Amino acid sequence: MSESQIIALSATEAAAAVIAGELDERELYGVYHRRAREHGGSDALNCFTWVSELSEPGGAPQRPLGGVPLAVKDLFCTKDVPSQSGSKILEGYRPPYTATAVSKLQQAGATMLAKTNQDEFAMGSSNESSAFGPVRNPWDRGRVPGGSSGGSAAAVAAGLAPWALGTDTGGSIRQPAALCGIVGLKPTYGAVSRYGMIAFASSLDQAGPLTRNVADAALMLRHMVGQDEADATSLAFPEPISVPDGVRLDGVRLGVATQLSAESEGAGGIEPGVAAAFEATLKLAQELGASIKTIELPHAPHALAAYYVLAPAECSSNLARFDGVRYGLRAEPGGEDGERGLLGMYTRTRHDGFGAEVKRRIMLGTYALSAGYYDAYYGRAQRVRTKIAEDFKTAFQDVDFIVTPTSATVAFELGALTDDPWAMYMNDYFTVPMSLAGIPAISIPCGLAGDGLGPGGNGLPVGFQIAGPAFSENRVMQAAHALEAAIGFDSAAAFA
Ligand code: GLN
Repeated sequence: MSESQIIALSATEAAAAVIAGELDERELYGVYHRRAREHGGSDALNCFTWVSELSEPGGAPQRPLGGVPLAVKDLFCTKDVPSQSGSKILEGYRPPYTATAVSKLQQAGATMLAKTNQDEFAMGSSNESSAFGPVRNPWDRGRVPGGSSGGSAAAVAAGLAPWALGTDTGGSIRQPAALCGIVGLKPTYGAVSRYGMIAFASSLDQAGPLTRNVADAALMLRHMVGQDEADATSLAFPEPISVPDGVRLDGVRLGVATQLSAESEGAGGIEPGVAAAFEATLKLAQELGASIKTIELPHAPHALAAYYVLAPAECSSNLARFDGVRYGLRAEPGGEDGERGLLGMYTRTRHDGFGAEVKRRIMLGTYALSAGYYDAYYGRAQRVRTKIAEDFKTAFQDVDFIVTPTSATVAFELGALTDDPWAMYMNDYFTVPMSLAGIPAISIPCGLAGDGLGPGGNGLPVGFQIAGPAFSENRVMQAAHALEAAIGFDSAAAFA
């Protein structure tokens, strides 16, 4: 097979070709290894923070994944391989163990090719908070890939990895998938072990696939789910993950929430092209047999405010462990007027090691948790979270899935929102409600928007989000597969 034939294969097809003896596992790996080195570095897309030294995979092809190369978000601990969560405070940190999600995929036969760039500690929506520099969107290198799993999304969209592992706390798989024109799935909270993921907000963090198509997402998820004694919040998935093959949506009831529709004001203004692509996809769904119903999620407009109390609160506690003693950076105490001694070392290390967005979140979170304010902020946000989960439960009595645009805009220009944190946070308007409710949601590319933008001026990718009740991943992916087939989006359009 030629290089172009090899990279045209989806992960599912590549695994099948290796197992059938039609494709040599070393050839498959070699093609991606070369591409990753050539296009993934800081002089190009900057989507990788580490690429394997090995130009050949070690050992014989393992079933069932046949050695298919995998890109892994930097925040997964990978034994002896830099795992830095996009932060200077962990620069060069090589953990002594591997995260469960990664080791399960490796045991199923995936080969780790690279670690991917991300927002620092997964805090961000543009990949610009990374200590290792921003990732460029392969559709337009002057624009962001989304975040925080921006490196994973860009690598898959550019054909530098067949698939990638990401994490999603409030949208970090779905939004970059949308902005890069690929598929991203956030599983039910607890479906995948968080063991070995460098924690941001533990009650929200979930690992999931970023892939070229829905079938690949199912294949990856199948080998990730399961209860893990190392993560007390993990749960056994109630059924095997099946390969989706749906082509019709007969009898499927899709809910469009007034509060999360293309007309809703809350998102801070949906771009007309995004709204048009969303509406066109709803029409397509009806042609496939689905019915559309307007539903209410009355508390969804408060999701963003609740999330930006809860996530910083949890992060302020999780990030307390980075003190210069146990991991990564240790700065010399002092400096002008600086504290001396141990306290000075802590202060300097955290001052030098954390970036501006992470410091902002730590301060917000510490404030929200402080005595006297705890109930006014954290307690109230928790109550809003419960209300949102109840809203979804009620809605799912009337509809099978809830659909929204994944993001209100297409990929924006590098630097466009870096001075305006709240505008950056608005990127999460459509994704955070599902995170707070702990339910699964997928983003699939549903078309292009933005006249004159992107390759040939045809526009930039738009994402369509489908959310279902807890543990409905198989049904969500079945519906996504039917829509994907009807949409016919070209997932290779941005290959480097
Ligand atoms: N953009 C959101 C944030 O900055 C979500 C990030 C994520 O899901 N990790 O918190």
